Amino acid sequence: MSYEIAPAICPPRRVLMGPGPSDISPRVLSAMAAPTVGHLDPYFLKIMDELQEMLRQVFRTRNQLTLAISGTGSDGMEACVFNLIEPGDKMLVCVNGVFGGRMAEVGRRAGAEVVTIEKPFGEIFTASEVESALKEHQPKLIGIVHAETSTGALQPLEEIAKLAHDHNALILADMVTSLGGLPVEVDEWGIDAVYSGTQKCLSCPPGLAPVTFSPRAVEVMDQRKEPVRSWYVDLSLIRNYWGGSRAYHHTAPINMNYGLHEALRIVLQEGLEARFARHQKNHEALKAGLAAIGIDYAVAEENSLPMLNAVKIPEGVDDKAVRAQLLNQFGIEIGAGLGPMAGKTWRIGLMGEASREANVLSFLAALEQCLA
Ligand code: PLP
Repeated sequence: MSYEIAPAICPPRRVLMGPGPSDISPRVLSAMAAPTVGHLDPYFLKIMDELQEMLRQVFRTRNQLTLAISGTGSDGMEACVFNLIEPGDKMLVCVNGVFGGRMAEVGRRAGAEVVTIEKPFGEIFTASEVESALKEHQPKLIGIVHAETSTGALQPLEEIAKLAHDHNALILADMVTSLGGLPVEVDEWGIDAVYSGTQKCLSCPPGLAPVTFSPRAVEVMDQRKEPVRSWYVDLSLIRNYWGGSRAYHHTAPINMNYGLHEALRIVLQEGLEARFARHQKNHEALKAGLAAIGIDYAVAEENSLPMLNAVKIPEGVDDKAVRAQLLNQFGIEIGAGLGPMAGKTWRIGLMGEASREANVLSFLAALEQCLA
């Protein structure tokens, strides 16, 4: 039998201004092209140690249990939920977008008795709303999304974390989109478990999920009565590979870890404060430009994320046609709305490498032509 061999990969050049992945620095791509070594090679073990230390700096934590799960952000979500939940535990999830909904579903699959509080897409929770739910349900774990990529809304966490502890609950935060783009203070805010992803403001390809766990969360894991119901994300096993006895668990994706290593070096070389300020400045420039052509945000200004701009599609404009023209004529990718915001909003990302003044200006010029 003869097979046709597919042509070599030759992707089109795009400017990634959607909800992720974002543009990748050539430095990260070249780190990923370095020779693969074994997953127990002393060189790779050193890379893992350095990765853990750099992740602690970016998460702003001293948590010993800080590492990168081999999988995308959703795998990080599963790692956090499956390790902290035992069947029958109560988990409270705050749902105001797609990813809160996904966390609730993961909780159910982990065997939790999940209760949710819900807000319309684009709105955020007040501390008192969360406090009432904590009082009523007394959960073991509360899950909440810091930066809801599906809606463009930023959820303040500090007060909610304090309330969770007052009610003897652990708090789990989704920081997939916020990490590296806006202030994240894991220790100062008292967040017990966090997962993130590589493809948003860290500007590394998708494929790893940085996670971190407070000593309180680790204690809960250590006192589990039954094994974690997922072998792959069982942190009692993964911990022994990232530290301790360096026991084989799974074959780490070596070159993905090289990429994250270089991406974190770039983040720390720029400096976290400078990086946050850059994201904010480009967000404000985009907002001013959009206002000048009559495009409004779908989220209240004070809750709007700097790295993900959810805007209302003007009346009578064809959502799909504009996105296709942006992609095909200008090479610019933006995202469609999700859930109840589908067809009504565009999601314009300014994440990591893509958060640049030049991108803001060329996007605004391209959009004006598409709307003309
Ligand atoms: N949480 C948030 C807030 C996200 O934006 C995403 C992805 O867009 C995820 C979780 C899931 O991450 P992944 O698609 O990398 O599995």
